[in-house]
Amino acid sequence: MKKIPDDMLEKYGPDKRDKSKIKLLLIKWELAKLLGGKCAKCGETDLRVLCFHHKLGGMGSDKWRRMSRKQRYDHIHGIIEAGRPEDVDVLCMNCHTKDFSRPKLYDRFSEFLRDFQQRVMKIGKRVPRPSVTELPNGLMVLD
Ligand SMILES: [Zn+2]
Repeated sequence: MKKIPDDMLEKYGPDKRDKSKIKLLLIKWELAKLLGGKCAKCGETDLRVLCFHHKLGGMGSDKWRRMSRKQRYDHIHGIIEAGRPEDVDVLCMNCHTKDFSRPKLYDRFSEFLRDFQQRVMKIGKRVPRPSVTELPNGLMVLD
């Protein structure tokens, strides 16, 4: 990573925590750029929702969860430096969640829901619709 000029850190990271956040975001941006700069599935480029996915499973999710953000970025950087950038995908949170957050359970639930809706329609009952209330500020909330 290139060194950030001190005056820029002062301007954009007025306190110590902000400075380290700016540094981490710069690392994330650089790593994402090295890996294509966008979600490999849908093309999303908003850095806020991009994440890194180790396609080979990496070190296991428990160890990954215990690592700091900096340690995770160092790990990704190590994979790139080792000449294996194809082992890591940049994905947006939506695509990552759809593919890796209990996909079998959600597939099964989709089937369940189709079956459930057909049976409910067959016997003429309707699934109660959630009611919606509009707040004075214009926001809609589910009851
Ligand atoms: Zn995506």
